Amino acid sequence: MKKLEDLILTYKDFPKKGIDFKDVLEIPQNPDIFQDLILRMSSIQFLKNAEAIISIDARGFIFGSAVALESSKPMIVARKPGKLPGQILTREYDLEYGKNSLSIQSNALKKFNSFVIVDDLLATGGTVNCVARLLQDQRKEILGLITVVELKKLKGRSKFDFPVNSIISL
Ligand code: AMP
Repeated sequence: MKKLEDLILTYKDFPKKGIDFKDVLEIPQNPDIFQDLILRMSSIQFLKNAEAIISIDARGFIFGSAVALESSKPMIVARKPGKLPGQILTREYDLEYGKNSLSIQSNALKKFNSFVIVDDLLATGGTVNCVARLLQDQRKEILGLITVVELKKLKGRSKFDFPVNSIISL
């Protein structure tokens, strides 16, 4: 029988040379394993005290929305450039490969005071750090980060002053 670990495939040199890309997209193709993962992510203690979840574009949405449903928490999103209508807050960040920016809708952010961040994978921590700064600039509390995969050797978690719970460490 397949396990969660078996569903995380490695693609060498994608999207550029030197990157071992970890593909999590086989997980939702296996409903039993996906469901078990979502139950584990949803039972993490610091999530219980959060008013809302914020999930990160785009694979973070797959896991974040399922955790939001399972834990009965509202979810808002951080999105890549040009995707969000209305008034937005934006910040640039560095990726393991390249540069990007993330935006949050101001009206969505206003409604909640404490958040748990959900994403698919923690690498250098630049992406999550960008979301964390956007939240902290608005005086929002961050109770923790939940990710499916953490690439431990990149030490992303050392950038944060909140707890990190990753289901698989590689
Ligand atoms: P980072 O900002 O370096 O922590 O990168 C995290 C984000 O980039 C996550 O949302 C991942 O989807 C993506 N990412 C970065 N590195 C990888 C990798 N080696 N394999 C798969 N996704 C990655």
